[in-house]
Amino acid sequence: MRRHLPIILVVLLTTVIVSLFGLGGHFGATRLIHAQQERQLHDLAALVLRRTENSVQFATDAMDQLQSRGLVGCAPSTLQSIRFNIYQLGALKDIRVTRPNGSVQCSALPETLEFDRVWPSRDEMSATADGNQLIFKVDQYAQTSVGVMTDVDAETSLVAIFALPPALLDVLPEELQYNANVIVELNNDQLLAALHPLAGTGMISQFDQFMATSEQYPFRAVLRVDARALSNWEQDIYWPIVSLVAALGLAVSLLISRLLLRPESPIAEIDRAIANEEFQPYMQPIFRLDTGQIVGAEMLARWVKPTGEVVPPFRFIKLAEESGRIEAMTWQLLKLALTQMKPLLSADKRFTISVNVTPHHFMQQGFADDLRREVHAAGVAYRQICIELTEREPFEDLGAAASVVSTLQGYGFKLALDDVGIGHSGLSHLQGLGANTIKIDKFFVDTVGRDATANSIIQMLVRLAHELHMDLVAEGIEDNQQMQALIECGVERGQGYVVSPPVAIPAFLDLFEQNRASAETPASVYVA
Ligand code: C2E
Ligand code: CA
Ligand code: CA
Repeated sequence: MRRHLPIILVVLLTTVIVSLFGLGGHFGATRLIHAQQERQLHDLAALVLRRTENSVQFATDAMDQLQSRGLVGCAPSTLQSIRFNIYQLGALKDIRVTRPNGSVQCSALPETLEFDRVWPSRDEMSATADGNQLIFKVDQYAQTSVGVMTDVDAETSLVAIFALPPALLDVLPEELQYNANVIVELNNDQLLAALHPLAGTGMISQFDQFMATSEQYPFRAVLRVDARALSNWEQDIYWPIVSLVAALGLAVSLLISRLLLRPESPIAEIDRAIANEEFQPYMQPIFRLDTGQIVGAEMLARWVKPTGEVVPPFRFIKLAEESGRIEAMTWQLLKLALTQMKPLLSADKRFTISVNVTPHHFMQQGFADDLRREVHAAGVAYRQICIELTEREPFEDLGAAASVVSTLQGYGFKLALDDVGIGHSGLSHLQGLGANTIKIDKFFVDTVGRDATANSIIQMLVRLAHELHMDLVAEGIEDNQQMQALIECGVERGQGYVVSPPVAIPAFLDLFEQNRASAETPASVYVA
């Protein structure tokens, strides 16, 4: 299933994974940019706050200095000295002496009093955290100023008045300057200073706010930034991040695709083929050499892949054997063969199917019973089944093998010794196993009639078979000449391309029908 995963699925999977990663990249980049903006704008608000705090500290220091020099009071000479101080310090607009309720007693620069629009009473002023000063808004014509009041004694206080200049609030990066307000306001919301205040009145429909609140003083610095402007600010890293994450998604999907499309291990392929019944029994006729009459068939495995490719057994039998799959495969093949061959087997009770069984499988505990059960379940007579044992691999325990042979024969099954003459076992198998049939290997059949040695060996096998009450099948007969030579050697049955290669069962049944119809015809009719 994995191997045949259509490419379209892989493309779909890749698209989905890359999209998901891209989406993740989008959210990640947006969050990252947002966090970065937030940090920067908070830092800028903190900068404005620090500058404002420094201004207040400057005013407080100035008043402390006056006090330490005894320059507190409304006497003209005192005010004269204070005025000189204001002139020297530069940043202050005025210093006033006030009464306990906060009202002005006198001013160093009395003309400035004319510009006051509102002067708050003491209880409208906001105290610093340490309670040493009061801070308040001084609403003047054309300007807002800040007042810092410090008490000299129960009767007298000093107030320093200064403005927060636009330069102090000018902290915004160029891209945001026209889309944001920088505000310093008292904690009671009274505005002390604002830069770009116009932008705040209607032009910004939706804004994000960044704030820094003073720990010591009762005011805060606020940045109000147009949300739309913010979404365009510092987006340079957006696409690199999204692309990077999407590329990562592509790499991941390639990895997954590779895993999905990875060729199956050969063993997994065999398992899948067994599950899908891709191993099919082909049948090759076994026929009488004198008449050409088909008397049986050898079942030979073919792997018929879904593509239609027919794979020969040398490509999979060994692996199936080594991986312990041959048993399941053999039972599956036998079941299929018996089902499909059943009508023929019932119609011709002398017809025999030969089945190849590996020595290891043959020696497994319960093999004889399993075989009996399978054949019985198919309703086929035991004597119509011949088990072929190869002589290529010697049995470890010939005595035990012979005992299985006799058990099977006791049930009625037949046994054939395959590939005789080319194995390593000499004549020991022939003698010791007690099989019913000898199958002469194609190796000798190839040269029969042309090579005297081949003839001698075949004649010797024929004699031996008669002695041991066995019969013979010659394998791999490809032409009439070989057939004639084999008849002359005394061989009675054969198998080979001269009649038919192994074919799928429906084709075999057709072949069998034709063969039956011309039962009396000499074998030469079948020669291709
Ligand atoms: P085998 O049991 O000796 O089977 C005979 C082989 O000779 C078959 O090859 C058959 O197609 C081939 N053959 C028959 N007549 C001719 C001929 O005239 N000319 C030529 N050139 N070849 C001929 P196949 O089907 O390729 O099988 C090869 C071997 O694979 C078999 O040798 C058998 O050892 C093994 N095998 C096949 N099916 C099974 C199975 O179901 N189980 C087991 N355990 N082994 C199997
Ligand atoms: Ca065989
Ligand atoms: Ca053989």
